[in-house]
Amino acid sequence: MSRIQGRADVVIVGGGVIGSAAAWRLAERGRSVVLLEQFGPGHRHGASHGSSRIYRQAYDGEFYTGLAARALPLWRALEDTTGTSVLTLTGAVDHGLPAALAAKAKALAALGIPHELLDPAEAGRRWPGIRFDTRVLHHPDAGRLHADRSVQALNHAAAHVGADIRHDDVVRGIRSTATGVEVVTDGTTIAAAHVVVAAGAWTRSLLADAQLDVVPELPQLRTTQEQPAHFVPIVADWPSFVHHRGAGLTGEGIYGLGSEDGIKIGEHGTGPVVEPETRDYRPDPAGVERLVDYATAWLPGVDPSSVVADTCLYTTTPDSNFVVDRVGDVTVAAGFSGHGFKFAPVIGELVADLVDGRSRALEPLRFGARQAVAAR
Ligand SMILES: Cc1cc2nc3c(=O)[nH]c(=O)nc-3n(C[C@H](O)[C@H](O)[C@H](O)COP(=O)(O)OP(=O)(O)OC[C@H]3O[C@@H](n4cnc5c(N)ncnc54)[C@H](O)[C@@H]3O)c2cc1C
Repeated sequence: MSRIQGRADVVIVGGGVIGSAAAWRLAERGRSVVLLEQFGPGHRHGASHGSSRIYRQAYDGEFYTGLAARALPLWRALEDTTGTSVLTLTGAVDHGLPAALAAKAKALAALGIPHELLDPAEAGRRWPGIRFDTRVLHHPDAGRLHADRSVQALNHAAAHVGADIRHDDVVRGIRSTATGVEVVTDGTTIAAAHVVVAAGAWTRSLLADAQLDVVPELPQLRTTQEQPAHFVPIVADWPSFVHHRGAGLTGEGIYGLGSEDGIKIGEHGTGPVVEPETRDYRPDPAGVERLVDYATAWLPGVDPSSVVADTCLYTTTPDSNFVVDRVGDVTVAAGFSGHGFKFAPVIGELVADLVDGRSRALEPLRFGARQAVAAR
């Protein structure tokens, strides 16, 4: 029987980008925070590792466009606090399906975010690594985040304001008590007023086994093993980009961006359904071949023979909207559906608001029935 060996205002389960951001925002508000992560720093078993994630503001509606815009000054604040560079603005381009561009341009315009529509020849002159055959939406306040450095900086920033960040510490159970919750790891039980579950692909099983007075009503969370690939560039100057399916592109849409590891491209959410404990970490050859075919057809600025593929987890809700909500002493931040990284510091703020009781969950991010908004 483990004894109570610690107390905190808030225990956070999961040290990916979301749990780390929540730890930073909560600790900065003066809460005593313990963050428990089952693996070591920089591990590659979840969703937050690697050298790059797209940061962009163009979504099909104002909800995520607005959240992404809110994230930008918070990423810059993180850089100022830690002296670490995490966000590089390269601009972002969308091309392909005209309706996808129109919806994004409308959301950017509604929020007063600078953007422009270019013809394919002008876009090709600016970004010779990409072949364009439709009009192109460009917005400059976009680019890439360095994923590993972001998580590390969030951990450092959180620790700097007092958070206790513990790696290699697996949470085995969560249970309600008369005064809050207890979070049980191997040999340790921490009593807290509140628990934040930011456990990515492990969220569903962790909560299914929890002994809670009130159980969060999660939407279905589907975990897939995705496989982005990197290619060696032969030209400089890469924006982050999304090529929307339709128009000249058959098959899946493709996202891409420059990174320290080369030009990364990937399909969005097409990987096999897996469990995090039993997945094989092996990129599917057919999927890799599709990315090589895409690079050959659409990316004159890379060497298609230089492909190196990796794997990473998506945890996706039915409508691709995130889950950031609270019931009783439990807040859940999960289901980031393959597009959550860019928002992490804002999600940290939303979590801190929920824990503090400052506000209710945003409608599209609630447990249970909720209004879906455009999440692409
Ligand atoms: C290939 C790929 C490309 C992507 N591209 C982009 C992009 O360009 N832009 C963008 O914005 N987003 C992108 N995303 C999505 C983004 O990376 C994720 O939404 C985000 O990383 C999710 O973070 P998380 O903290 O929720 O999950 P995770 O990073 O998986 O973190 C959850 C953590 O909880 C820990 N944990 C689980 N159970 C326990 C336990 N019992 N005890 C202790 N710890 C536990 C896990 O070990 C893990 O570290 C991409 C994702 C992938 C896979």
